[in-house]
Amino acid sequence: MPYVAPSTIDEACDFLRSNPGSRVFAGATDILPQSKAGRRLPEFLVDLKRIPRLTGLNVDDKLWRIGASTPAAHLTRDSRLSGEFPGLVEAAGLIGSDQIQTRASLGGNLCNASPAADTGPSLVVNEFSAVIASPEGERTVPVTAITTGPGQTSLTNDEFIVEFLADRPAAGTSDAYQRFTPRTEMDIAVVGAGARVSVGPTGEVTNADLVLGAVAPTTVPIVGISDALVGRSLDEPGLERAADLAKEQIEPISDKRGTRDFRIHIAGVLTKRVLRTAAERAGAES
Ligand SMILES: Cc1cc2nc3c(=O)[nH]c(=O)nc-3n(C[C@H](O)[C@H](O)[C@H](O)COP(=O)(O)OP(=O)(O)OC[C@H]3O[C@@H](n4cnc5c(N)ncnc54)[C@H](O)[C@@H]3O)c2cc1C
Repeated sequence: MPYVAPSTIDEACDFLRSNPGSRVFAGATDILPQSKAGRRLPEFLVDLKRIPRLTGLNVDDKLWRIGASTPAAHLTRDSRLSGEFPGLVEAAGLIGSDQIQTRASLGGNLCNASPAADTGPSLVVNEFSAVIASPEGERTVPVTAITTGPGQTSLTNDEFIVEFLADRPAAGTSDAYQRFTPRTEMDIAVVGAGARVSVGPTGEVTNADLVLGAVAPTTVPIVGISDALVGRSLDEPGLERAADLAKEQIEPISDKRGTRDFRIHIAGVLTKRVLRTAAERAGAES
């Protein structure tokens, strides 16, 4: 298998520009099974894991930086990250198995562009952006600008994600991710739900966001969740309203994992559960 492993971003960009039939990869946990299933291999596989900025976690006073090729296992072991983005870490910890997580990356999970990818809802609900490298230089875009449909992204062949950025959450803000799968292990989401909730000093909700996965070609941010919950403590009528909003705004398909109606039902159940978990983590009373 033709393989190159550049050690700098510039080297990778130059190689990709002069070899248009190439494809980048990180853990190869999507690329390898796809090639074994008959998908044509690229002219060159370009390994991104030798470029230092792409592997590792960094946090300063304001900002988190997560290298796009950092294995999920590094994310799940980082107590600072689990403290500030427990939902994103939950999502990373659901990818495959321990073995898969030693290789699987956030960049690969997003750019494989499966509607059921577990980290998508958490990246979107926490408003992560992505730094993209290209032969023209670097640019930063919201993660929502990257996945355009199943198996499709807005990136050209000579571009790749360097790192993901997010503001550190303010005190009283937290997130959660939950999914439904028929089996508890090694299965992909029938519905995935990422939530982020902020609460005030007396426990009332001051902001709430919800993003669903596996219910449309790309992740679906649900509109109106804050309006349903803000200004009240997390009660059943508010959660019911949020669940109704989620059910109204999705158009899932039926497939072997679940019918459209089943997915809509599960979306409502997960909406209530994931918002409650995020709110409790943020400091709301249950
Ligand atoms: C047994 C098994 C179980 C799995 N279970 C789950 C699961 O439960 N949930 C889930 O979400 N996924 C699951 N997956 C899928 C896979 O493990 C994840 O999508 C993983 O995060 C992909 O990361 P990777 O680094 O291995 O990607 P790779 O295979 O290296 O790359 C995947 C795609 O992303 C592109 N890419 C990689 N890095 C970048 C980058 N930095 N910039 C631009 N493009 C890039 C590649 O060109 C390729 O198209 C499973 C896979 C297996 C084999």
